[in-house]
Amino acid sequence: MKTLTERINAICARIRELEIRYGREPGSVNLLAVSKTRPAEDVAEAILAGQTAFGENYLQDALPKIEALTSKKLASNDLSWHFIGPIQSNKTRDIANHFQWVHSVDRLKIAQRLSDQRPTHLPPLNICLQVNISRDPAKSGVAPEQAMELAMAITQLPALQLRGLMAVPSQTDDPDEQRALFRQLRELAETIRNAGIELDTLSMGMTNDMEAAIAEGATMVRIGTAIFGPRNPPKAPTT
Ligand SMILES: *Cc1c(COP(=O)(O)O)cnc(C)c1O
Repeated sequence: MKTLTERINAICARIRELEIRYGREPGSVNLLAVSKTRPAEDVAEAILAGQTAFGENYLQDALPKIEALTSKKLASNDLSWHFIGPIQSNKTRDIANHFQWVHSVDRLKIAQRLSDQRPTHLPPLNICLQVNISRDPAKSGVAPEQAMELAMAITQLPALQLRGLMAVPSQTDDPDEQRALFRQLRELAETIRNAGIELDTLSMGMTNDMEAAIAEGATMVRIGTAIFGPRNPPKAPTT
């Protein structure tokens, strides 16, 4: 059994290897450790191993962890907390108060609330639009053809900084199919950039499709299982 520190080191090494293999600039792919459902002790261990960016899906599971770990000051660098789960309107205030990034914005109403509720003493909240690139009716995300309009509207919101696009494509084990979907997200980002909107982030790739995502231009891969091991079902699936 490898330790958590060994698994983090292995993932980082693998990311560096894939950057080289696919002609990506060294250091251009960042690791977001998805710590949803994991106890604060596991996150603390990851921080001691040098990891500073963490992804959470369930607000009531995340808030006590954020509080515990922020006060502990385990890291020399600041931690960044990324909200990556579906967002209900009544959760936006806590998200705007406690996170640095939100990857799962898929409608204007939520973006407006996040901007209105972002405390003025904090820097703008970094935002990725979640795009339903597989057009799967069971998945969240803005439809690809509506992403441009939503991106434009978000650039007008004062307390938000639009950073990029995010996708969770339908699962497939075929690397070519994985790449085809990630390519669509990258091309959509290019289309939006060509309209004059700055985007520097492509949040795509999880444990099972990280290689395809890096090959297609991911700048942030969201990895849970390969770092923390298999998950138990979440306690709070409604969040
Ligand atoms: C759980 C989750 C991940 C991490 O998935 P793994 O397969 O465990 O690496 C990434 N992104 C989102 C949006 C998730 O919900």
